Amino acid sequence: SDLRRLILDRIRDVPDYPQPGVLFKDITPLLADPHAFAAVVDEFAGLHQVDKIVGIEARGFILAAPAACRAGAGFVPVRKKGKLPSETLEASYDLEYGSATIEVHRDAFAPGDRVLIVDDVLATGGTARAAVELVRRAGAEVVAIAVLMELASLEGRKQLDGVELHSLVIV
Ligand code: IMP
Repeated sequence: SDLRRLILDRIRDVPDYPQPGVLFKDITPLLADPHAFAAVVDEFAGLHQVDKIVGIEARGFILAAPAACRAGAGFVPVRKKGKLPSETLEASYDLEYGSATIEVHRDAFAPGDRVLIVDDVLATGGTARAAVELVRRAGAEVVAIAVLMELASLEGRKQLDGVELHSLVIV
């Protein structure tokens, strides 16, 4: 589609970042293009009727906040451990080396809120899976996950057992 092309042409592959052997998908050229950025935000905003859109630190914030504004939904940050000021819930997940912990405010949602989770890239799916767990434990309903780009070979989709996933581009 046109949107797929718009995105693909504006994501840059950076070899050996952040570590040797990793091919990093850099979305900054997309963000710098006002037409492409707006098209992506509109696409996310139009996916589902929701009460809140969650953005995952840090690039998820850049996409989720304008989408929430556009959709008439609230924005909720899911952050790396230690960054949120009030009482939190936390979830940990395994990385290739070690583990990571993310948090959300306990009172971020009203009971039964319908929630869309947004991030830039779905890789192994560990981050998105942990975000789903957090939203549910905070008393809300995960309607779907949306990402700009899904790295299919890492099979992150399989981690999301049944949660609807919208990938604007699958590579
Ligand atoms: P996962 O938990 O392995 O699915 O990794 C997804 C998380 O890592 C997301 O929050 C992404 O922002 C980040 N990430 C992983 N690979 C890339 C990449 O190539 N480009 C940008 N972000 C990435």
